Amino acid sequence: MATYSHSKLAKFESCPRAYKFAYIERPEVEGFETADAFMGSRVHEVLQHLYEDIKYEKRNSLDDLLAYYDELWEKNWSDEVKVIKEGLTPEHYKRVGERCIRDYYQRYEPFDQGRTIATELRVAIEVEGYKLQGLIDRLTSSPDGLYEIHDYKASQRLPPQQKLDTDRQLALYQIGVQQRWRDVKRVDLVWHYLAFDKELRSERTEGQLEELERSVLSLIGQIERAEDLDDFPTRRGYCDWCEFQDLCPEWGHLRKVEALPKNKFLGEPGVKLVNEFAKLRSKQEELEEQEEKLREAIIIPPFSPPSTTGTGPGYFSAIAQARQKLAEIGSVAIE
Ligand code: SF4
Repeated sequence: MATYSHSKLAKFESCPRAYKFAYIERPEVEGFETADAFMGSRVHEVLQHLYEDIKYEKRNSLDDLLAYYDELWEKNWSDEVKVIKEGLTPEHYKRVGERCIRDYYQRYEPFDQGRTIATELRVAIEVEGYKLQGLIDRLTSSPDGLYEIHDYKASQRLPPQQKLDTDRQLALYQIGVQQRWRDVKRVDLVWHYLAFDKELRSERTEGQLEELERSVLSLIGQIERAEDLDDFPTRRGYCDWCEFQDLCPEWGHLRKVEALPKNKFLGEPGVKLVNEFAKLRSKQEELEEQEEKLREAIIIPPFSPPSTTGTGPGYFSAIAQARQKLAEIGSVAIE
């Protein structure tokens, strides 16, 4: 039976086709890491180092941690890491990471809020015969049976409380923690939004956890049906972050056309249609201009006004002048 995780479920929700690429076809694609993700990973490693040392009664100073961060940064940075935001450099990201570490240190020092059970803890969650797995950044407990699931975020977006109160990832981890230890009396879900120096919390009732299990089972049911029917439609929305864009049927045609040499590019059916459309549009504008000139020629009299009744000499003279004017425009044959 397949094993699931929050990120696997989220991939199917955001785009079934991307799910098929990632978990079924697994093509080799050139990936890259964004500077945001790189910085977040380094900050995670520093906080892991901090709490792993505390387990052995070693308390690092802030300077120690910043030096460790610097070392990690230099050792891991490569040209594969991409700065996406215009006008920013790797140095900007590095400084944000330093600020996250400094703020965290000053807020929680001497780091005695609960006892750290583990960092980067793998948890298995059983839901009606299905197995889900997850990774908890840090799990703490207190003698009164309070467990806290801590998650570090270096994101520059601060979510509203309502989003945290319905967050699936940490709530699933709660189920895993409750299944693993009998002395759990209460579980708090704690997010550290490091770039904002904010700690946000949420809790789940047993009823909410049961509802979560039902929704996860329903989603797994959808995935299994998609697998049975081999029906994984594309869903655009996260394409800018999708590593499978070059292989995706939504984008394949565009990529193919872009890659053609210019002479072949111009003969490509899609490009031909666009060019044809542009020509027709230009012709339409030309005709509209001619129509306008005709109207002016007929309505604006550069000659003496004809008599308004009958077909006297004024009338014939006006017709002759109109014919001459239209002939000057030269765009319409006058019989
Ligand atoms: S490029 Fe967009 S539509 Fe295609 S698989 Fe990726 S997310 Fe889905």
